[in-house]
Amino acid sequence: MLIKLSRSALLTEQNCEREFYYKYLFDGTGIEAEGNDVTPAIGVAVHKGLESILNGVTLEYAIANALAKFEQLKPRQLDWEFDFIGYTLPECRFLIECLVRIGAMRAIPEILSQWSVVEAVEKKHIVPIPETSLGWVSIADGELNKNGLTSALSWKTTERWIDRKLEVPLIDMQGVSEPWAISQATGKPCHSVVMCWFLTGETREERGLGRRVKDSPLVRPWFNGKDWQWRYQWEEEGKVRRVGKDYKRTAVWEYMSAEEWIEALTKLPVLDPLRFQYVGPLEYTRPPWNEEAFVRQLTGKAQQLEALSVTIDYAREHGILQEVVDENFAQSTRGCPWCPYYSCCWRGMIDPVGSGEFKRRVR
Ligand code: SF4
Repeated sequence: MLIKLSRSALLTEQNCEREFYYKYLFDGTGIEAEGNDVTPAIGVAVHKGLESILNGVTLEYAIANALAKFEQLKPRQLDWEFDFIGYTLPECRFLIECLVRIGAMRAIPEILSQWSVVEAVEKKHIVPIPETSLGWVSIADGELNKNGLTSALSWKTTERWIDRKLEVPLIDMQGVSEPWAISQATGKPCHSVVMCWFLTGETREERGLGRRVKDSPLVRPWFNGKDWQWRYQWEEEGKVRRVGKDYKRTAVWEYMSAEEWIEALTKLPVLDPLRFQYVGPLEYTRPPWNEEAFVRQLTGKAQQLEALSVTIDYAREHGILQEVVDENFAQSTRGCPWCPYYSCCWRGMIDPVGSGEFKRRVR
């Protein structure tokens, strides 16, 4: 029985209807894999550190909170990865600490110079979806205020930055759903979302070694045994310069602490490496017609799902569940090899929770 919808649920459904079924409807509660992929776990941990700083704790305490969050999420190893404990986890922890330090030194002071902080903790709002019995769940990272106007704060992490991402909040769901939910829940208009992205670097397989590494200068700059360079090539006096042939990508965390590396980066001449590790804060306001369209679309989808969840309950009781699931939740085959529900979909797993690979979702 479906009782709540969220942005992540709708995006899952857009990606694969069958994934939506497993995640939100399977056996009444939906199921999810035990543990978390490393990259999203880094994002959640960085969020925690930034939230702690906005709440006024010391930087060291904020880093400790972020790292504790990362451990709590039980980052899991991929089948093909080796040296997870010796390489991947220390690299992730170092990256988290670097990003929290950059947030404290740069992004947060920039936010505080423009907005005052009303709420600095992640807050879940559950608001009724019109004309249905379903609720809409929205989680904002905080609430800001400028000249009496309320904005939702959103920390983001992304593996890679392309400038087109600047346009995304003008069309994506979050840019409209969060202000709507906050306005509904608090009764005071929320007119925008303030976003700040932190770059985690793309995940790559290290040539010849088979382990996955983060392609970020915060963890793998170039080193020749004496000097460090944070980027492979750069422009200087109109000429393109590259690091020398003796430089190699190197795990900097095996040579110094995150504090020392950030300090070293701030001392590099000419460029400001820290400014390349985050984008924002940027404010996005969506027009009223956009919010009205979102609410209509949400209502329509919620009505469909409300009816469907009754059909599923009936089908479960009468032994025709698989037929109803096949008719209503198509399998998208685009991303199956990387999907956590692969064993349910394609390997005939019939008791995912009993297998120990999955747990029931908490509503
Ligand atoms: S394995 Fe494929 S079809 Fe099945 S839920 Fe995942 S993406 Fe969808």
